[in-house]
Amino acid sequence: MLTDAHCHLDFDQFEDDRQAVFAAAKAEGVERFVVPGTTKASWQQVLALAERDNVWSCLGLHPYFIEQHQSADIDALDQLLGEHPEVVAVGECGIDGRFKDTLDEQWDYFDAQLKLAKQHSLPVVVHCVHANDKVVKRLRQLQLPKAGLIHAFSGSIEQATAFLELGFKLGLGGAVTYERAQRLRRTVEALPDDAFVLETDSPDMPLSGYQGKRNEPQRVAEVCSVVASLRGQTFEQVAAQSSATAAALFGLPSV
Ligand code: ZN
Repeated sequence: MLTDAHCHLDFDQFEDDRQAVFAAAKAEGVERFVVPGTTKASWQQVLALAERDNVWSCLGLHPYFIEQHQSADIDALDQLLGEHPEVVAVGECGIDGRFKDTLDEQWDYFDAQLKLAKQHSLPVVVHCVHANDKVVKRLRQLQLPKAGLIHAFSGSIEQATAFLELGFKLGLGGAVTYERAQRLRRTVEALPDDAFVLETDSPDMPLSGYQGKRNEPQRVAEVCSVVASLRGQTFEQVAAQSSATAAALFGLPSV
């Protein structure tokens, strides 16, 4: 049994065939899905998806959509988290260093969401691009009780270790399927068994061989194959381990 620990199945790209996407995933053994929120406008759709069996939701404000956020959204998030105990994490939130013009604002929203995670005693799902060292530093200061997920991790073993020491888990997805991702592949080889979950970030981050196509949760199976071969483990071992890690991280029923 595989878990897609991070997929945006609420996005419009799945509007026409969402049922078929779930069915295709199930046919590949992908049976659990964690869907993060990205904007206030997305939260109701994310909560609605989580009414399905084996789908869990997170609520947050993603740095990529910074133009859509307002400071009042933080209060709205606080309130919604209180009303929906079934939500498994705060996120997706974080820092995207590619968008330098909005970095100050990104940090304001990220910090506010980290504080909500602490207050509601929830893990946090972190988007972290070109900002690993600064984010580690901030997380170290805050000492979140539930830690969380560093989604789409692509750093060095030193950066991985810094997150793991804070109790975080790393999300491995399409990036590991590219042979040119040498540093990440060396990191994946060296990680402890309980350090990572598998994810797709669907519809984004296509795997090698699928560039330009919509990514889908069924491809967690291919991520699992690559991770298993890099680590010299069996597909079944990696599937079981990573699903157990996702269950522990998000407080899902054990597998
Ligand atoms: Zn995402």
